[in-house]
Amino acid sequence: MKVIGLLGGMSWESSLEYYRILNETVKERLGGLHSAKCILYSVDFEEIENLQHEGKWDELTRIMVGSAQKLENAGANMVLICTNTMHKMANEVQNAIHIPLLHIADAAAEKVKEKNLKKVGLLGTKFTMEQDFYKGRIKEKYNIDVIIPDTDDRKVIHDVIYNELCLGQINEASRDKYKKIIESLIRNGAEGIILGCTEIPLLINQKDFKIPIFDTTQIHCLAAIDYALGNE
Ligand code: GLU
Repeated sequence: MKVIGLLGGMSWESSLEYYRILNETVKERLGGLHSAKCILYSVDFEEIENLQHEGKWDELTRIMVGSAQKLENAGANMVLICTNTMHKMANEVQNAIHIPLLHIADAAAEKVKEKNLKKVGLLGTKFTMEQDFYKGRIKEKYNIDVIIPDTDDRKVIHDVIYNELCLGQINEASRDKYKKIIESLIRNGAEGIILGCTEIPLLINQKDFKIPIFDTTQIHCLAAIDYALGNE
């Protein structure tokens, strides 16, 4: 079994989910007392969040690169950045290490492709929804159209992530707001929804919707297990 390197803490609420899903999946696949071999490097999210909102992406890139190198030096055979947003510097991270970075948007897009969908809605931080590193990759590599909520709705999604979900707060009122926003994406032609923030699955899941919901936390973990067990 290969060793999974987790670059986490963004936030730790979702890193906890990674740890749980990885171990549950290995147990399901191998049985007995089997569990996932992994190494976690967990950052202080307050520092990261400040730098993000100050637009200091070069400094964030240095932190992500240095953390990924620490995982490689510690013996990881792959790196997972446990947040969609911080895939903004995925190329720089991959270029600085000698083990594969399993890209969360690729893992998500593969699942969308399996279902033959042509157009999906994307929820995530403003950085993920508005910039091109995520949507652009999905369009260019997989030819899948990605639509996002309008400006006001993007603010709601973003604020709930940082002010509630990353603090472990799950609010019914926010769940209702998210559901309404997803319904409006569906009216605009979304055939599936990518939960492109690793905390959103704490609030929203498949059972509330008829169209496919792509949980990037779960999908990213499954891609890592496939690679770790040689099933990819
Ligand atoms: N975990 C979130 C994501 O998947 C947001 C936290 C962050 O800014 O990294 O994008």
